[in-house]
Amino acid sequence: MTRHSCDVLIVGGGMVGLCIAYQLLERRVTTNIIVLDKEPDLGRHSSGRNSGVLHAGLYYKPDSVKAQVCVSGANRLKAWVNERKLPLNACGKLIVPQRAELDGQLDVLAERGRANGAVVELWDESQLRQKMPEARSASGRALWSPNTAVVKPISVVQRLQQELRQRGVNVLAAQSGWTAKPEQLQLLLADGSAVQYGHLFNCAGLQADRVAHSFGVGEEYSLLPFKGLYWQLKANCPIVPSCNLYPVPDLNVPFLGVHFTPSAGASPVVSIGPTATPAWGRENYRRLQAAEPAMAVANLALLARQYLVNRGGFRRYVHEQAFLSLPPLLLRAAQQLIPAIRAEHLELSDKVGIRSQLFNHNTQAMEDDFLCLPGLSSTHVLNAISPAFTASFALADLILDQVMDDFNFS
Ligand SMILES: Cc1cc2nc3c(=O)[nH]c(=O)nc-3n(C[C@H](O)[C@H](O)[C@H](O)COP(=O)(O)OP(=O)(O)OC[C@H]3O[C@@H](n4cnc5c(N)ncnc54)[C@H](O)[C@@H]3O)c2cc1C
Repeated sequence: MTRHSCDVLIVGGGMVGLCIAYQLLERRVTTNIIVLDKEPDLGRHSSGRNSGVLHAGLYYKPDSVKAQVCVSGANRLKAWVNERKLPLNACGKLIVPQRAELDGQLDVLAERGRANGAVVELWDESQLRQKMPEARSASGRALWSPNTAVVKPISVVQRLQQELRQRGVNVLAAQSGWTAKPEQLQLLLADGSAVQYGHLFNCAGLQADRVAHSFGVGEEYSLLPFKGLYWQLKANCPIVPSCNLYPVPDLNVPFLGVHFTPSAGASPVVSIGPTATPAWGRENYRRLQAAEPAMAVANLALLARQYLVNRGGFRRYVHEQAFLSLPPLLLRAAQQLIPAIRAEHLELSDKVGIRSQLFNHNTQAMEDDFLCLPGLSSTHVLNAISPAFTASFALADLILDQVMDDFNFS
């Protein structure tokens, strides 16, 4: 029987897992690292399917982990991407209130952003007009974030993987159906071989709760998948937003609302989305592909309870965001930001992502922040939601800081 042996085994080769491997090398902790992924190639899930926005740190409560890592993570990823001349669109971002009563939220975002180390400016109508004449602000004011940028997520994942392989990291792809043996510090692979590890990081994204449960960790948590569809402006659309354009978000809800994002790279496309509708499966990107009906029905029942008790203003999410995958509602949301947009300007993009939100069955509430749980010689990253892509280098360092004392590799 083949036996692999490593100091560190990383389950999940998305941005979080790859950055942990990268930072282990940078810190010279060990070079004996295996990244194990169930897919034949990396980037098939959230890290390869997101909007690619490097967030500037505006949304997060200053005492949160997200706030702690977003700005520094964005700066590091931007520098990393620039050094390698990968596609980057440093176009900045505008946030506009779509209803007059949301105007005050601009001040809240500006205050949070500054507390988190972000550069923000509050603009009046003439400044907004100058930057983007087609944009509408219900109050006339807008928040300008010059440091928000856009990358091409899949090219980041692929380059990171390539560099890790060159530096000796062993990437074991197409490894589904393994069994955890936590007491023996082993994974048994489907082909009968075993991987022996010193420390395991669970960075399995949409499946991280299930992986954690197989190690007896975090049984009170489960991930709820929300499908994100994107539309895009047709190539002949006369309106070409010059930067990201976002609505004022409901800060109680994990989703930022449908927004306009110009892509990075040659022949940029402006996407509109993503929506956030309860999904029929964690990896249900197309029609009934990978549908999990029993899970979906249980999740809908759980979400219906959240609606009834209106926890964290959940009803507003349902009324304003849950049905945006319906084209007329999506168009209306887009027109709140750019009134001149018409149905004939839009086409459905083939990009689809699924965002997983961690639900705590003890508190009956969604977790808002990144969550990392310890297990026996293992660390489980359970809620790597946005902006985990942006923050990935800094998040990896923070996770490593917490577990370094447990490492004892000879
Ligand atoms: C639609 C959408 C838009 C987003 N927009 C942004 C944005 O603009 N900016 C931003 O910062 N963030 C954004 N995010 C969030 C960001 O994409 C995620 O936070 C980040 O990619 C999470 O990375 P990850 O490595 O944890 O997960 P993933 O990228 O999902 O990687 C997990 C990996 O684990 C593997 N895996 C799963 N189960 C197993 C198993 N049992 N065994 C082995 N391997 C396994 C998977 O194959 C996968 O490769 C968005 C997310 C979505 C879905």
